[in-house]
Amino acid sequence: VKRIGILTSGGDAPGMNAAIRAVTRVALNSGIEVFGIYDGYKGMVEGYIEPLTKASVGEIIDRGGTILGSARLPEFKDIEVRKKAVSQLKKRGIEAVVVIGGDGSYRGALALTEMGINCIGLPGTIDNDITCTDFTIGFDTALTTIVEAVDKLRDTSSSHHRCSIVEVMGNRCGDLAIWAGIACGAEIVITSSTGFEEGEVLERLRDFDLIKKKRHAIVVISEKITDVHQFAKKVSLNTGFSGRATVLGHVQRGGSPTPSDRVLASRMGEKAVDLLMQGIGGQCVSIKDNQIISVPIEEALSMPRESRKRLLNLFERLV
Ligand code: ADP
Repeated sequence: VKRIGILTSGGDAPGMNAAIRAVTRVALNSGIEVFGIYDGYKGMVEGYIEPLTKASVGEIIDRGGTILGSARLPEFKDIEVRKKAVSQLKKRGIEAVVVIGGDGSYRGALALTEMGINCIGLPGTIDNDITCTDFTIGFDTALTTIVEAVDKLRDTSSSHHRCSIVEVMGNRCGDLAIWAGIACGAEIVITSSTGFEEGEVLERLRDFDLIKKKRHAIVVISEKITDVHQFAKKVSLNTGFSGRATVLGHVQRGGSPTPSDRVLASRMGEKAVDLLMQGIGGQCVSIKDNQIISVPIEEALSMPRESRKRLLNLFERLV
C-alpha cells in the first residue's frame, strides 16, 4: 500500500489527535503517503481531502477534539453515496483508510472494505461502548474530567447536607458511571446494568442520612435513564438531603487527553498502519489484557455488552 487516508467520525473524543499523529508518523516513516479526510465520511464524499505531513501533525498530541473535524452523514448507508466516496479516493490513489470513531463509524468502514477500500477502525469515543476493546480512546480523559468535577461537588455538598446527583455520559454503556463511582467514592451508582427503582434509591438515601449519618451523598447516574432534575426534587421531598442535579454534558468530551489516552492512541495507530501494510481490512483495533490486537468489525459489532458485575459488586463492597 502506497497511500492511505485517515478520518475521524461520529462523536469526537480526546486522544483522536494523538491517533491521527500516530497513524501519520508511522505510515510516513514506512514510506506510505497519508491524506487527511476532513469532516468524516462527509469529506470523503465531497473530496475534502488533503495530504498530511509530519509537521502538520506536530503539536497536536496534547489537544482535545480532532484537527480533521468530525461529522455525521446518515446517507453514507446508501451505496450510491459510498460509490462517490470510493471514486474520490481512487482519483487520488488512496487505497486504504483508517477510521477513528464509534460503532456507527465501524459500520461505514466495513461497508467501504466490502467495496474494495481496506479500512481499519480505531475506537475513538469517551463512552467505552465498544465491547471488543477493554478501553476506547478518550475514556480515560472523560473519566478524569468526571472525577475532578465530582470531587468539587462533594466539597460543596458536605457543607450543605446535600445529595448531588451527577449525570454522566456513556450512551447506554455504564462504564463512565461505574468507574467514576469507584474513583470518587460515590454512595450510589445507577447504570443500565443496575436498573433504576426510584423508591429503592430514595430509601437508600434516607438510610445514608438517618442511620449512617452521612453529611452528603453522591449519586452517579448514566445518561438516558431518568430526568435527573425531577429526581433531585423527589430527593428533597422524600429524604433529609437537599437534592441537586448536575448534568456534566459536553465538558466530558473536551480537554487535553491524559497520558494513558495518548499512549493508547499511539499504540493503536501503529497497529492500524501495520494491518494495512499487510493488506488487511475490515478489522478494528482493540486492547485486551494490555495487548493490542485486531478483531473483524463484523464480530466486534455483534458482541454483547459486558454487565460489569464484578465492578458493580466491588462498588457495593466499598460503600
Ligand atoms: P459513532 O461512530 O460515534 O457511533 P454514528 O453512529 O453517528 O457515530 O456514525 C458515524 C457515521 O458513520 C454516520 O454518520 C454515518 O456516516 C456512518 N455510518 C453509520 N452507520 C452506518 C452504516 N450502517 N453503513 C454505512 N455508514 C454508516
